[in-house]
Amino acid sequence: MQRQQFQLLSRFLLMPAIWFAGACAAADVPTPTPSAPSAAAFDALFKRLDVGDLIVLDTQQQIGVINQLRMLLPPGDAHRQRLLDTQRCFIEFSNSLKEGFAFAEAGLADATRANDTEAMARYHYCRGGYQKSVGTPTKAIDDFEKGIELSRKNEDNVLLAQGLASRGDKFSVLGLHGKALADLLQAQRIYQQNQLQEAASQIFQSIGIAYRRLGYLDKAREYLVQSMEQEQRAGDRESLYGSTLQLGFTEEESGNFGKALALDQQALELATKTGDKTSIGSAQIAIAGSQSDLQHYPDALAVLDKAEANFAAAGDAGFTGMIAYERGRAFAGLGQLMQANDMFERAEKAPDFNENQRYLELLFGAKAKNLEAAGRAPAALREYKRYLAAREEVANQRQNQQAQMLREQFDTDRSQLENARLKAEQARLTAEQELKDRQVETLERVRSWQEVALGLLIALLGLLGFATIRQLARSRIWKRMASIDPLTGAANRRGVDHFGVSAVRNARTLHEPLSLLAVDLDLFKRVNDRFGHAAGDRALQQIASACQHALREHDLFGRIGGEEFLAVLPGTTLAHAAEVAERLRSRVETLAFEDLPSDLHATISVGVVELSADDGSFADLEKRADNTLYRAKTGGRNRVVIAGECSFDAAASEPSATEPEGAAQATS
Ligand code: GH3
Ligand code: MG
Ligand code: MG
Repeated sequence: MQRQQFQLLSRFLLMPAIWFAGACAAADVPTPTPSAPSAAAFDALFKRLDVGDLIVLDTQQQIGVINQLRMLLPPGDAHRQRLLDTQRCFIEFSNSLKEGFAFAEAGLADATRANDTEAMARYHYCRGGYQKSVGTPTKAIDDFEKGIELSRKNEDNVLLAQGLASRGDKFSVLGLHGKALADLLQAQRIYQQNQLQEAASQIFQSIGIAYRRLGYLDKAREYLVQSMEQEQRAGDRESLYGSTLQLGFTEEESGNFGKALALDQQALELATKTGDKTSIGSAQIAIAGSQSDLQHYPDALAVLDKAEANFAAAGDAGFTGMIAYERGRAFAGLGQLMQANDMFERAEKAPDFNENQRYLELLFGAKAKNLEAAGRAPAALREYKRYLAAREEVANQRQNQQAQMLREQFDTDRSQLENARLKAEQARLTAEQELKDRQVETLERVRSWQEVALGLLIALLGLLGFATIRQLARSRIWKRMASIDPLTGAANRRGVDHFGVSAVRNARTLHEPLSLLAVDLDLFKRVNDRFGHAAGDRALQQIASACQHALREHDLFGRIGGEEFLAVLPGTTLAHAAEVAERLRSRVETLAFEDLPSDLHATISVGVVELSADDGSFADLEKRADNTLYRAKTGGRNRVVIAGECSFDAAASEPSATEPEGAAQATS
């Protein structure tokens, strides 16, 4: 049985935790002794508030730290004054979001005039946070993106991570969990690389939630448990409540109902301590769900009455659908089918169920079962169809998001590699220049032969050292470049395998189709022979680029050998993949190459396969694709062959002027 998921996510869990973190006991609050201005002391304290142990202080305590910073601020230091004001922007307006927004706008204008890019990035983050109440989520994302861009330019990784974490949270609110996860994991990686444990653990909970929403329950559990340990240490009760409830959902989705109930009860205890009625009510709904999972229906009904009373006391009508749905489940369990049906009808009309496909999937399923038990077969069938439609939509969304996450990570890795390559190149040039300068100086300075000999020896040692360092740096870059093919910029063998192995795993978990195209350029040696290897290279690049553009966003096109490629097509059936293959084939056949002789033409042969139960691994699938490709070659080239079928002679259907051999046309 799966679990409902509450609106409370957006209320508690996704609040930008870095800014408005809950009460704290553990951090060592600096005592407000009068301090002399000092840039170094200012910077150290600023960092603690920004990404260090003072993140977890409550608002009042953080305002105390701001006053400390004021005392440390060197007179006339406009940049540090602005930095201090950016912290005020995050901290001082948690009760008046409109004022916070106005403060951020004014600060941003001031920082822009002064061309203070660090302060600009911080003000963008701050304004983005307030867009929740003043603007739209899209505007918030715009702000985070601008800050992220500035931080990238400044090579300020920690500030970059703050932007990524905020944008990730916003993507979560928008239900874009794949994108959210890519951002959050990158932020976490940066924090950990910089040994900023506190900041890293602030996003454990968000990562756990995103993993859960994407269906990676083991990962979700791992992060939520870490999050709880951290919140326990920091005494952050509100966040601990959120993580506990989330872990409860994760256990329920894993079918561990007893564990789920225990966690829900723990969450209720925490909520009772904070006294927040909405939190108490939410934990009670969770308990009711787990009770019904365990077939304790009367207990479920009793706790739902309490939940309803708590929401009424808080004046919160955001959970009426969920309460009705849980009541429906309990009535159905007790065999009170009419009451159950009434409750389900009520839930469907409630705003919290409106257009929430995940809730609706659960609701339609429960309703269909109930109608069936009541002997109302036609109505049950109708609901069952709606259930199937909602289920398909939820599975599609999830799969798209998983693919998106993989893609985002792939793109991030690729741009990081490119940056690293440029930097290494720059460093190499500088080092070479310095070495030359040093040699000249050395030679100028030595007078006697002895000194010349000595100088040469030093230069030789330097060269050796330099060569070693360069070798080391190169091997590091090569290791990181390992997923990209440098000629075409497509994924290489390793990148394709990595993507393919996850794609097979996803396809199996989600019972989705997955297809693979093996692509080989026909008789490509002739192109090299006639036009030269450099022209061959450029043709390869343009063909790879054309194929990449002919695929969907979440497909992967990679180069696995000289003129051999694979396309991995998640969510694609054999028939559809055959159409894609034919599209690639005809695109290449009609491709007009740029900056190459106009009589240079190329064709490809393609083998098409779909993942079947017999394929043990991605490698098996690839092997079948290769065998199929071989049939396309022996069948005359420039054609698509589908596994298990007689040759589908695409080329033959439209008589072409190509030679019977098909061919990379070096036609002379
Ligand atoms: P088929 O004719 O069935 O396609 O057979 P094949 O794949 O075994 O032979 P083909 O002539 O198509 O491919 C091999 C040639 O591809 C060898 C080499 O000349 C060319 N080739 C491989 N890698 C590169 C490369 O990186 N750049 C260039 N310019 N040519 C390459
Ligand atoms: Mg080949
Ligand atoms: Mg070939």
